[in-house]
Amino acid sequence: NEFEDYYLKRELLMGIFEAGFEKPSPIQEESIPIALTGRDILARAKNGTGKTAAFVIPALEKINPASPSLQTLILVPTRELALQTSQVCKTIGKHLGINIMVTTGGTTLKDDILRLSETVHILVGTPGRVLDLASKNVIDFSKAETFIMDEADKLLSPEFTPVIEQLLGFFPPKRQILLYSATFPLVVKTFKDKHMVKPYEINL
Ligand code: AMP
Repeated sequence: NEFEDYYLKRELLMGIFEAGFEKPSPIQEESIPIALTGRDILARAKNGTGKTAAFVIPALEKINPASPSLQTLILVPTRELALQTSQVCKTIGKHLGINIMVTTGGTTLKDDILRLSETVHILVGTPGRVLDLASKNVIDFSKAETFIMDEADKLLSPEFTPVIEQLLGFFPPKRQILLYSATFPLVVKTFKDKHMVKPYEINL
């Protein structure tokens, strides 16, 4: 397979090649075409497989830059991973004219609220902070289509699970869920059964 096979926007393809990617990795080969159809995905994938780009590429492809509202939420368990993930979005999405914002604990809520008064197409963050903002009604979820969870086995801790379910509740009913996890503990299966619609399962 080649990245050209997915009929991505030219500007996106440029970003992919500039990032130094020549061919899709196996997880990308499985994820990208399915994610582009709008179907939910449940993927078992370790770090180092290219899993970040596996969900970032279809998310970027689906963003409408002309629509000034949040379209994709990417939840991750740590600040470090949030920064890394937003960097991948920014690098690959460089030519798309879209705005990406990171929000995690440990920074001032006030600054984040101010940044949300400008257009944000993709929000990358940790669950607690995103819920803080969502509860203050400063995020418009009405055009949010894609809900992504990376390292879901870590995200779905007893502490975070209710937070994540609350966040999901802000989304319109026809949202797409992309879930990536290194392991599939019971909490992941429970989440899948409760919230996902006929997910395409990837096991590499
Ligand atoms: P990840 O598993 O998302 O942490 O990615 C691991 C590393 O693989 C990162 O340094 C990526 O930049 C790199 N990578 C991801 N996809 C590709 C690809 N298709 N070709 C070459 N390198 C890639």
